[in-house]
Amino acid sequence: MNLNLLYYPQYCEAAVLASIILLIMYYLRQNYSTVRNKLFLALIIDNLLVSIVNIISVYTISYPKLFSLGTNYFINELYLFLYNLLAIIFLLYISSLVKSSFYRKCIYCSTVIIFIVETIIIFTTSYTHFVIYFDEDLNYKQAVGVTLLYVMAISMMLVADFIVIAIRKRLNVYQVVSITGFLVGVILSVIIQAFMPEFLITNFVLSMVLFFVYSAFENPAYFLYNETQCYNRRAFLQTIRRKNNKNHFYKVIAVKIIDYNYYEYMMGQRNAELLSFKIAERLNRYFKFCTYEINANEFAIVVDDNINIEETINEIENAFKEKFSIASDERIVEIDVDVDIVVIPIVDLKIEGVELEEIIHNVKGEVGKHVYVMDDIEMVVEKIRRTKKISQIMDKALKEDGFTIYYQPIYDTNNDMFHGAEALLRLIDKELGFIGPDEFIPIAEKNGQIVEMGEMVLRKVCEFLRDSKCLQLGVKYIDVNLSPIQCRYEKLAEKYLDIIASYGVDTKCVNLEITETAETEFFTVRVLKNIMECMVQQGVGFSIDDYGSGFATIDYLLEFPAETVKIDKSILWQAMESEEAMIILEYTVKLLKAIGKKIVVEGVENEEMKQILLDFGCDYLQGYLYSRPVPEDDFIEFLEKENKRAEL
Ligand code: C2E
Ligand code: CA
Ligand code: CA
Repeated sequence: MNLNLLYYPQYCEAAVLASIILLIMYYLRQNYSTVRNKLFLALIIDNLLVSIVNIISVYTISYPKLFSLGTNYFINELYLFLYNLLAIIFLLYISSLVKSSFYRKCIYCSTVIIFIVETIIIFTTSYTHFVIYFDEDLNYKQAVGVTLLYVMAISMMLVADFIVIAIRKRLNVYQVVSITGFLVGVILSVIIQAFMPEFLITNFVLSMVLFFVYSAFENPAYFLYNETQCYNRRAFLQTIRRKNNKNHFYKVIAVKIIDYNYYEYMMGQRNAELLSFKIAERLNRYFKFCTYEINANEFAIVVDDNINIEETINEIENAFKEKFSIASDERIVEIDVDVDIVVIPIVDLKIEGVELEEIIHNVKGEVGKHVYVMDDIEMVVEKIRRTKKISQIMDKALKEDGFTIYYQPIYDTNNDMFHGAEALLRLIDKELGFIGPDEFIPIAEKNGQIVEMGEMVLRKVCEFLRDSKCLQLGVKYIDVNLSPIQCRYEKLAEKYLDIIASYGVDTKCVNLEITETAETEFFTVRVLKNIMECMVQQGVGFSIDDYGSGFATIDYLLEFPAETVKIDKSILWQAMESEEAMIILEYTVKLLKAIGKKIVVEGVENEEMKQILLDFGCDYLQGYLYSRPVPEDDFIEFLEKENKRAEL
């Protein structure tokens, strides 16, 4: 056969090759499946098919007589169809970048309409001759319909362009360049081809720009950890979002390395990280496409609800039977890793990925029992949501001055008078009502709000000392609680002294209460000691709060310049219940007095308690017997009444 082609198919052949390479690249790099990368895959496949069909059509158009009329039509119809489909897929691909689901739906609907119209006019053209036709000599001719197809394709490209401009802020430079390159490349190649139809370069150019788009947008690192090829937290959040949208029931199996700190301590952070990689790799091998690495020591396996859970747990346990080998300092260390396995069934419950993460993070196995099925998930979720809500309420209260301070008078046993009070935070929300400090303080300590809150309390107390007549009514000091978290901040002393000075309040009027903590870290203890010494020098007093309920007692008593110790109410209450506890209370008081501390006992609720404590020789008493914590005005009223009583 004498080849006398009207067109040069070489570019199409190159396009086929490029598309195949792209396809291989796409599959070799396992990626988290999203609508967007599925559309990208469709784009590559369509480009491949168009190029192949284009090559075939080159032959049919050049030698139409070798084929039946039906074949001639079909090949060219198929080409036009696949070619125009490219624009549709591309527009869908770009619109998957749009966040607003309303706009996305609008675009989906219009592309469906365009798709239907194009399909009909293309595949009926053998009857209508609207798009293309063959004359008597079987010469290929274009008709007016081609212009319509061009118009539709160009409009879609313009819409895509418009979208890219609208969302350009969310894209990085590389992405904008690659998309713009794509649009310009396609338009230029269409123009070139219009003038030099024998060069079929459109699909080749398209394949080239798809490479750019691939590297700019379809970056697997977005959803995968490079080192382990395991899905990352972003992929996890996305998966959970999808499950929610589809109302799926499913199970999350959390795999938590027990005591990861131990490995860090034992072999250093870098090697512990290596270990974490190895674990991720192994889990990923056992549970491909459903393992998510949430962080170095927590992994999640997301499975269908109806999976055989015993089998899955067995498999996880098997995965950890084999040791992990880490090459450390030129030797190989074989390490056994123990994990907690927690099954979290999500049935009929919409839960956010971040909530699940928190559950995974907080849930703990028990000693000797490392497989655990959560059956109180609703309650746990409710608690997480309440915590989040409270955190928001606190944020708002901090901004809008929503906190109030109550004062609980402290009775001075030596003078039968009230010279002091403890400032206690109160938070009332319109929706949740009264929220106790025992609930909100730990939340604030966890998320860092406590720092701002502590300063706010100090400001309010200073304002009260300055503006009210409490000082005239005999108040000598107000106790302000200081969270151990605040005491890690070295500049706290400076800050607090500044605040007190800015209100013109005497430093002696402020007494800070610090709680014992389990914190024995040298640095923290040093910082705390520094803070205290610095403030004591300036006249601020300190009390050790909740004495007897915590740890580190001896150190606290010996090391820190606290003048006063507040014995925890639980010690008093236990003493009222048992003889031994009473002996402990008695000797605790004796011990503290012997080393020269002033003693406050809190939780004094009745006369009997008061009498016992008076007999023991306690200096100060605080409790409901005298007064509950009350608002400013009530506290002033209380003081006035007490002053009158003293005058009598
Ligand atoms: P705390 O420092 O031990 O405060 C004493 C708690 O004991 C107060 O609870 C007080 O209302 C309660 N109480 C005092 N006498 C009695 C009594 O006779 N019977 C009973 N049943 N309770 C009594 P409250 O106000 O609920 O505060 C709880 C905790 O919240 C405080 O314990 C303190 O640790 C924390 N807190 C409150 N305000 C602040 C603050 O401004 N900053 C910080 N960091 N913590 C605060
Ligand atoms: Ca306190
Ligand atoms: Ca206390």
